[in-house]
Order: sequence, then C-alpha cells, then structure tokens
Amino acid sequence: PGRAAAQVHARTAALPYQDPSLPVRDRVEDLLARMSLDDKVGQMTQAERGALDPVSDLATYRIGSVLSGGGSAPSPNNARSWADMYDSFQRVALSTPLGIPMIYGVDAVHGHNNVHGATIFPHNIGLGAARDPELVRRIGRATAEEMSGTGVDWNFAPCVCVARNDRWGRTYESFGELPELPGAMTTLVTGLQGESLNASGSVLATAKHYVGDGGTTGGVDQGDTRLSEAELRAVHLPPFRAAIERGVGSVMISFSSWNGAKLHGHRYLITDVLKGELGFSGFVVSDWAGIDQLDGAPGFTAEEVRTAVNAGIDMVMVPNDYRRFIGLLRSEVQAGRIPMARVDDANRRILTKKFELGLFERPLTDRNYTGTVGSAEHRALAREAVRKSQVLLKNDGGVLPLAKDARIFVAGKSADDIGNQSGGWTISWQGDSGPVTPGTTILQAIRSTVTNPANVTYSRSGSGVNGDYDVAVAVVGETPYAEGEGDRPGSLGLDAEDLDTLARLRSAGVPVVVVLVSGRPLDIGAHLPDWRALLAAWLPGTEGQGVADVLFGDHRPTGKLPMTWMQSASQQPINDGDGKTPLFPYGYGLTYPDRPTDPTPTPTPTTPPPGPAGCTAEYRVIGSWSGGFQAEVTVRNAGGSPLNGWTARWNWNQGQRIASLWNGVLAQNAPDVIVRNASWNGALAPGTSATFGFTATGASTPPSVTCTAP
Ligand code: BGC
Repeated sequence: PGRAAAQVHARTAALPYQDPSLPVRDRVEDLLARMSLDDKVGQMTQAERGALDPVSDLATYRIGSVLSGGGSAPSPNNARSWADMYDSFQRVALSTPLGIPMIYGVDAVHGHNNVHGATIFPHNIGLGAARDPELVRRIGRATAEEMSGTGVDWNFAPCVCVARNDRWGRTYESFGELPELPGAMTTLVTGLQGESLNASGSVLATAKHYVGDGGTTGGVDQGDTRLSEAELRAVHLPPFRAAIERGVGSVMISFSSWNGAKLHGHRYLITDVLKGELGFSGFVVSDWAGIDQLDGAPGFTAEEVRTAVNAGIDMVMVPNDYRRFIGLLRSEVQAGRIPMARVDDANRRILTKKFELGLFERPLTDRNYTGTVGSAEHRALAREAVRKSQVLLKNDGGVLPLAKDARIFVAGKSADDIGNQSGGWTISWQGDSGPVTPGTTILQAIRSTVTNPANVTYSRSGSGVNGDYDVAVAVVGETPYAEGEGDRPGSLGLDAEDLDTLARLRSAGVPVVVVLVSGRPLDIGAHLPDWRALLAAWLPGTEGQGVADVLFGDHRPTGKLPMTWMQSASQQPINDGDGKTPLFPYGYGLTYPDRPTDPTPTPTPTTPPPGPAGCTAEYRVIGSWSGGFQAEVTVRNAGGSPLNGWTARWNWNQGQRIASLWNGVLAQNAPDVIVRNASWNGALAPGTSATFGFTATGASTPPSVTCTAP
C-alpha cells in the first residue's frame, strides 16, 4: 500500500514467491513450501507493540503481525515517528531467511485516531445519521492515506455491529440499530482497501466484531447475545455479508457469546458460516486476548489455543505473552491436536493478504503520504461529515438557524473541548477531555462564524447568563469512554454538571438551544420541554466548524436518527417489540426551510375505514423528509363493547419498506422486510383510543388505514 521500494529487500527475485509477476496463489504456495513450523506459527501470532521486548523478537520468533492496541504509540506521537517505528520494525521482520514482512494493525476507527494531529472524523453513529455511503467511502480513503503515511497496513475497522441497546458502551461504534445502516456503510471497506489492496494508499480493512456484539442482553459489553439462529442471521449477520461482498480482507471475532457459547471458540459460526457459507476468503483475527476468555480463567492455556485455532481463528491477537503462545501453538500442532492443514490454511489466508498488499515489494512506509496526516483536505472532508451527521430533533419557533449577528451566550462542558467532541478511541483508548489533539472546538467555530465575535460570551458553567441574550447555546452530553467503560446499566441521563449549567440558563429565561455531544441517544425526555431546540451532534471529532455550519444555517440539517430515541432509560432496549413509544423514532430528523417549527402535526385526511361499529382509525403524518415519513395512527373505540384482538391494518398500494415502527407493530418482522400489510392486535376498551405509529422510507404516498374488530 503505497510503500517505498524495498531497499532492505533488494535481492533479485530469485525465488518464485519473490517474483511479483507470478499470480499471488503461486507465490503463496511457493513460500508455504519453504516455511518451517516455526515460521508458520509466527505468522499466526500478533504481538502488542509495547510488549515486544526486545524488538528483535520479531525475527527470533518469526512474528507475523504487530498492533498498537488502545492508542499505544511511539514517542513523540507524530506521523514521522510512527513511520520511523514502523520501518525499524519491518526491517527486523525482513531480516529472517525468508524475509516475510510483518503486517501492522491499529484501530483507526474514526480517522487515524492514535496519531496526534491526525484528522478525527465523526464516530460511526454520526456517519449512520448522515446516511451517505459515498461520504463514508471517501472517509475510508482519507483514513487509509493517513495510515499509509505512517506505514500502518491494517485497520481494525469498520465495526459493523448492530447496536440494539443504548446502554452498551460501544453504541457509538455502530452505524445504527438496523442492519441496513452498517451494511450500507461498508463502503468504508472500499475506501480503506482502495481499488486494489496493491494500489498506493490502500490498507487492509476488518469487519468486526463477528458476530452479535451489539445484541447482548442488557447491552453488556462482551456479554451474551441470546437469540435464535434466525434472529442472529436476520439482525447481526447481514453487515458481514455486505463487507465480504466488498472484499473485506479480515474479520475480527467478538468477545461476546451466542447463547452462552463464546464466539472465540465457535467453529460453526467461524468455519461453517463465515468461511463456508458466506465464502469469506480473507483471514480471521481474534480480539485482544480474546482466547483467554474461553475458559473463564485469566491467561490462556494450550486448550484455549487449540479451541480457537481449530474453530477457525487464523491469527491470534495475543497480545502480550507472545512467546508462551508461540510455544503452546507449536506443541499443539506437533502433538497433532491442531491439524497441519489448519495451520497451512491460516497461513495461506494471511500470506495472501500480505502479497496482495504489495508488502513483499514495498515493505516500508511511503513517505509521500506522511504529509496527508491532518491535512487541510482531510479536515475539509471531516467538516462535511460533521455537517451531514447532525440530527435536528427539535426547533420550536424556528429558533435555528441562528442569526450571525445575534447576541449569543455559549455554555456547557463540551463547548470548548476537542477531547469531549472526539470521544473514545482518540489518542488514547478511552479518550480524554481537553485539548488532546489539534482541532476546532464548537466555541471556536461559533466565534469564527458570527459577524462580530464580541457578541459571543462563553462561560462553561453558564454563570453570568441573563435574559438580554438572544439565545444560549448549551453544549452538553457525554465525556469520553470506550468499550465496557461506557456501559451504563442504569441511567443514560445528563450528568450533574450539565444539569447545573442548564438550570442556570433556564432560570435566566433565555431561549436555550442544546447541542448534544454524545455517543448515543441520552435520557433527556424530561428536560426537552425546557429547550427550544435540540441538535444531536454525536461525537463529531476535530472539526467543530461543521456544528457551527448547521447552527447558523450554512448547512441545512439533513441527518436522520440511526437509533430510536428513548423517552427514558427505562425503555431500553426500546426495540424489543414490547410496544414502546419513543421520543423520536428511527429515521427522524428535521430541517430548516421546510418545517421551521417542528413537530407540526399536519392532519392528513385519512380514509377512515369502514371499521366495525364504534371503531375508527385516524392517520396523520407528523414528520416527513425526502425519502420517508413518520406517521401516527389513532384508533378509537367509541362503541359500547370492548374490542379484543382488533386489527388495524395499513393497506399499501405497493410493497414499501418499513424502516421502523413502534408500539409493537411489526416488531416480529426482520428489519429489512418489505411489508404490504401491517397489523396490530390488542384490546381496546370502549371510549378509549390507542395511538401507534411508524416511520417509513421509500414511501411517497401515505397508506390507508382500516380497522377491524374480530
Ligand atoms: C477491541 C477491538 C480492538 C482491539 C485492538 C479490543 O479491546 O474490542 O475492537 O480492535 O481491542 O485494539
């Protein structure tokens, strides 16, 4: 991938595997035939950069891969020292008799986020809201270029998880709660891997975490996904299929379990389904010390090594005790407990990708890309992504967009904080508040957008606010976290500092616009009436200008919710089919010119159906956007007897795709289904009514509603 010619490897192509004119398959077979068991075991081993001690172990143990886990970086942490580190490691790997290059992996999950000064893009949840697969492809390409400039070959992204419970700490790594969004956004794979892996500026992508990571009970990270096989296949498998169709080179196994069985030992799901049925031809990597968890005790045993490799894992992210791992893997193979054919299969898969990447020809960093790290061009792309990712959820009285000459009071802990804006997986694993890396804060962006910066007053806590201001912009929400650290078994509410800030603004009587910086929907239902406007900014990354672009109307909000937004945390998981009414449905999102004062329920003439005596149905559109709408159906029982098991039914002219629907209707349907008739069964007492609703995409005309009693 855009690598410099192999100075260190300038031997003549004497051997077939060294000859780039031969087909990759032939080169792999030639090389494999020359490899010892030690060489093969080494290829299956991935060690953590910080644990490699001494670095010469790369050659001694023939280690095939290195990673920087959790932000592990060279010092100083800049693009040039990454490239220098990479090249020095690669030179060691190349010093072995066969000279097999190592492959270096990182989590560049929203830009090349381990590297200080890199462009930080919105986290996936924001990209899911943007619903722009081509934008995501371009982000993949920009990320790959920045990676190439530091030598790094392999990205542990995209996470194609389908997040089904907002309490899960990795919700923001998900493009959305239905498989259609993560599936569509596998264009990230295309961007990362380029036209071909061998092309300049391409890196290897990873679809993770296989499979069901976002569906665990209670939204517990690394928990247990309890679903029938049909549901697992309907909800969690499709994005992997999409990634494979786009040629993803590697798949990472999930820490989680499926009905109690750990994925890291799941031969059926890895070997039969992923490699067999789905035809995945790349290689499978474990998650960080994932094999250690197979027996529940700390560390790994020979049995865990055997179980994982025999299940179909090709490379093990050990990541620390690599010498011991190598010893155990070798002795399991020697004892015949891991078949040699399995080891050869793993090596073929790994080596194929190394050849395809051009690592044998160009093993060192292509310094032509080093200058792309944090470049103006990439920051402009990130700003575009920020603009498109925000979702306008409330805008009473058209308070937004703000006038550029308004007198604005800015408050909140995330108004002037790059770290909060960027979230987890930024410079460090967990991320951190504060100026962790260069970028534009939302406050700075507001100041540079208004006609006179003196009209903007900032106080983090909101102190000093008064009713003379035209508007207060409160930037509040979550502070950074990653993985299980972000699990919220209880509340998903605002923290004490935010509540305090908001209370100050409220008592001043100034109109409050809330910009929510968060990795997921938060429990804000009780506060919403106090706010004139609510803009979900998700975790926008370093380019805060994109937020100001929307606040001041330089960009009309176009984002649509990638997650159903709960009324309160007690509704989690909201999409369990129990008929919960959300605060905002999946797909919801307002904009400026069309409907400045949403929600404006526009009663749409319904075709009140000739239902049974005493039962009427009324249908109204309560929100619409290009390509979809949101509607509500109220059924009234004016008759004298209870209606049990009545049915309200939508009749569609043609099959339309229901993206989401609440109050239980259709909950049993697999998400991507085309529905012609949707029905709801329930009891309805005389004189009462029941309201339920749905969002639909691709539906231009409202359906008619009929209501029938049993
Ligand atoms: C995460 C993976 C990540 C790996 C390497 C693990 O803790 O679950 O998503 O790729 O670490 O950093």
